[in-house]
Formats: sequence, structure tokens, C-alpha cells
Amino acid sequence: MWGIQDEYICQSCGLLIEDDKFGPEPDGTYSEDYCQVCYEEGEFNEPTIRMEDMIERSARKMAEEMEISEEDALKKLEKLIPTLKRWKETW
Ligand SMILES: [Zn+2]
Repeated sequence: MWGIQDEYICQSCGLLIEDDKFGPEPDGTYSEDYCQVCYEEGEFNEPTIRMEDMIERSARKMAEEMEISEEDALKKLEKLIPTLKRWKETW
């Protein structure tokens, strides 16, 4: 996908997780899969969000962070997000 194994991609929103941005678990540890925007205390912050909405929202953030067009970000995320752990099972 991104070809970079040692960077963490949130398995919900598809964006890179910086070192201190992992979602907290109820036992005080941190999730290895999800960022703190998506996940907190063992639960998703928006359990009912649809995949399409997540793709659009992430595309806006990614476009800002990576200074690419929203269209390019959308194209990447439309491929990436359906393969992530959170979405794979339902789609
Ligand atoms: Zn996330």
C-alpha cells in the first residue's frame, strides 16, 4: 500500500499515527491499531460512521497534512480504507 512497514496507519481512518497519538485502551495501554481521534477507552468514537463518510473526512485531513489535492487524497483512501481492519469485515 504505502510500502512503509514501520509507520503506523490507523486501521479506521487510514491516516498515519504519530508516536503519541495512539488511542487509549481502558487498561491504560494504547491501541496498536487505532489513533486517538477514532478510538478511545476501548471504543470507537463514532461507532456508526459509514465508510464513505470516513473516506471523505480523512481525505480532507490528508490533503491538508500532505499538501496534496483532496481529489488525490480521495483516490488513495478509496483504495486503502476498505482494506483496513475496521472495515474489512463488513465490506
Ligand atoms: Zn484513526
